[in-house]
Amino acid sequence: MIKFDLEKNQRKILFEQVINKIDSYYSNTKSYPTTPSLEINHIRDYINTQNLQTSVNYKNAINHVLNGLENYSVHTPHPKYFGLFNPRANFSGILADLITATYNPQLAAWSHAPFAVEVEAKLIKEFGEKFGYKSETIDGVFTTGGAEANLSALLCALNHSFPEFAKNGVFGISKRPIIYCSEQAHHSIHKAAKTVGLGYSSVQSISNDEGLKIDLKKLRNQIQEDIASNNFPTMIIGTAGTTGAGTIDDLVALRTIADEFGLWFHVDAAYGGGAVLNKEIKPNLKGIETSDSITFDAHKWMSIPMGASIFLTSHNDILSKTFRITTDYMPKEANSLNIIEPFSHSIQWSRRFIGLKVYLSLLFFGWDGYEQIIGHQANMGGLFRKKLLKNNWNIKNETPLPIICFTDDSIVNNKQFSQKLLDAILKKGKSWLSTYPIGSLNTFRVCITNYNTSEKELDELIEELNEQRKLYLNNI
Ligand SMILES: *Cc1c(COP(=O)(O)O)cnc(C)c1O
Repeated sequence: MIKFDLEKNQRKILFEQVINKIDSYYSNTKSYPTTPSLEINHIRDYINTQNLQTSVNYKNAINHVLNGLENYSVHTPHPKYFGLFNPRANFSGILADLITATYNPQLAAWSHAPFAVEVEAKLIKEFGEKFGYKSETIDGVFTTGGAEANLSALLCALNHSFPEFAKNGVFGISKRPIIYCSEQAHHSIHKAAKTVGLGYSSVQSISNDEGLKIDLKKLRNQIQEDIASNNFPTMIIGTAGTTGAGTIDDLVALRTIADEFGLWFHVDAAYGGGAVLNKEIKPNLKGIETSDSITFDAHKWMSIPMGASIFLTSHNDILSKTFRITTDYMPKEANSLNIIEPFSHSIQWSRRFIGLKVYLSLLFFGWDGYEQIIGHQANMGGLFRKKLLKNNWNIKNETPLPIICFTDDSIVNNKQFSQKLLDAILKKGKSWLSTYPIGSLNTFRVCITNYNTSEKELDELIEELNEQRKLYLNNI
């Protein structure tokens, strides 16, 4: 019979093969082009060279996978990947994923993995405190990503507002729940509304003020209008670090409005939540400590490999109200102890030890290490803004986070200009950036998402931008 464990010497050889190759990738990431050529037929042909029916040579199988990833991925761990919030994974996070896969602890029930569950519980407490929650009120759970965390938030808000929701769902409520967020909020909110059966038209996307923050006056008017039409305003979601322009809603004012009308106040800090780990930029998240719940993606600014997100709440009874179910087949040993059963606290049942990569990162580098890294990235953002201005680029967003949206105001056909320049830069494969529409402009969007990005990479990018601008102006 086939041997799933392989032999000890085979394992040694394959471990070495993988480690040599991934370490070479990790050490030399900068020598890869940021962008692959996306010839879909090449990729499919490459995959189809393999036959899944029978066993193949293991070394070849590994080479097939690693070469596939190296040739056909955007290299998000590259220090010139100035893209979405996809970090380079810090080394301890990589080790943690290997360890988790090997021990494969089952985090559904406390009694199966008490060390792992207690580690996650300790982390939830510490993160809650970092965000300013009162220690005794903190609860939360690790999730696969921000989308699951936002879905958990919506479910908690519904169970908070409608005590019978867990039992009767939407059939037990006579008024339509309404969720408020800004137009710049993440679309996982709409997805959550679809998933819970409310439908995405239950989400009121409020337009933004000049600063791309949720317009507070329009929000208040909309809530009053919804009450007048016999709907049930249920939840306000503030974004701390929008995906596009990195803006932070006025969280203090949102809390006040939520209190005025009795709404659940959730803060989607999937990316920007990292700011609480650095004392200089933390004040920009003022008000987050008053929220009812928070989404925070450790797999963004904390440079933890995907997927690792945290859902936090300051209502320590709401997760079990929302997710508890009783079963006969789950182990009962833990019943008498003062513990939380993760399966009664989460959308997931069988759960991976997501928290280990966060725990090991903190053991390796500490909160002090994050203070430095987050500060470094924020500083690189500031430095890049200065360099842009010096080189006659115009900045179009305002945020303390290292996300910069810019263009050249003197160029008449802005849309054509940004598209041509973007295409040219991506084609060269030295840097990866994107565009983001602000008002009538299609701006370039640069995010310092990699802890290894230094002034050198910023200068190289500025040079590329200047060179392409010059070529564009010479050709029109
Ligand atoms: C990334 C992001 C999400 C979605 O999180 P995932 O981890 O990708 O599921 C939600 N909200 C905001 C503001 C984000 O930046």
